[in-house]
Amino acid sequence: MTTYGFIGLGNMGGGMAAVLAGAGAEVLAHDLSGEAMARAQAAGCRPAADAAEAVEAAEVILTMLPAGQHVRSLYESVILPRARSGALVIDCSTIDVQTARAVAERAAERGLRAADAPVSGGVAAAASGALTFMVGCGEDDFSAIEQALAPMAKAVVRAGAPGAGQAAKICNNMLLGVSMIGVCEAFALAEQLGLDPERFFQIASSSSGQCWSLTSYAPWPGLVPAAPSNRDYEGGFSAAMMLKDLKLAQGAAAEAGVATPMGAQAEALYALFDRLGYGGKDFSGLIQMLRGQLDALA
Ligand code: NAD
Repeated sequence: MTTYGFIGLGNMGGGMAAVLAGAGAEVLAHDLSGEAMARAQAAGCRPAADAAEAVEAAEVILTMLPAGQHVRSLYESVILPRARSGALVIDCSTIDVQTARAVAERAAERGLRAADAPVSGGVAAAASGALTFMVGCGEDDFSAIEQALAPMAKAVVRAGAPGAGQAAKICNNMLLGVSMIGVCEAFALAEQLGLDPERFFQIASSSSGQCWSLTSYAPWPGLVPAAPSNRDYEGGFSAAMMLKDLKLAQGAAAEAGVATPMGAQAEALYALFDRLGYGGKDFSGLIQMLRGQLDALA
């Protein structure tokens, strides 16, 4: 039975740790929040009094934290000094590529096998063991990392060397943000031109405008049953989370000297939507801003 040390038991990490415990693993769980600790304990994890206790006995150390500064600080203060030699250290948070590369390099110097493994799929996928992991790691380490992540995964894909998982995640989410805005704009224009939204959906779904944001996640209600547009844009992937990923993409683009003007526009639009108070809504709710119907968002 594998012993996991799991740090960061929030919306995502709480579900992931519960899935591991449910699959029979020993999970030493830690979070700064007492509520998150209580939930993890109820789900079968063993509460660790501090991060060091979660790390020291673990063969696999998983982190699921808000941002790069939390990851860097936890690695420097606890994980690097306290992890067992040869342990797998896997950060599943969404963070900047530079920090991911830096902590992996420091971990390798300490004889640890490190990976960045950000996820696609939200809270529901975390709670049901159906996440897609995008992994950046050494080629030789991938099979052990894949095995460690398998109970929580629908798919585990190696993107390349350390940092490549984060690179894949932010490029994918930049594409998603841009394509969702395109779909929202198309519906807003179609409406003003007198098109029936359902008829437009049928036509675009089988024409060259077809994309995931349209056919799997339509921002216009009543077209795709599972889409958050049918639930007042609640649940799903929040606009604030999309904004975070778009900022990471713009930071990476500036660093690499790459022009990403559509990504920059997407960041600006999501920043505005967030600033207007709708960061907690699903990111497809941006359609109401483009329609001039923000009042329709509860
Ligand atoms: P969250 O804020 O719900 O959870 C983060 C948890 O980390 C909190 O419980 C917090 O108390 C804990 N924490 C912070 N610093 C800590 C420390 N030093 N020691 C112990 N615990 C600490 O966030 P989340 O929604 O679970 O997201 C986590 C990561 O997953 C983020 O990087 C996010 O971008 C990414 N992500 C989220 C989603 C989503 O839909 N929520 C989807 C994909 C990826």
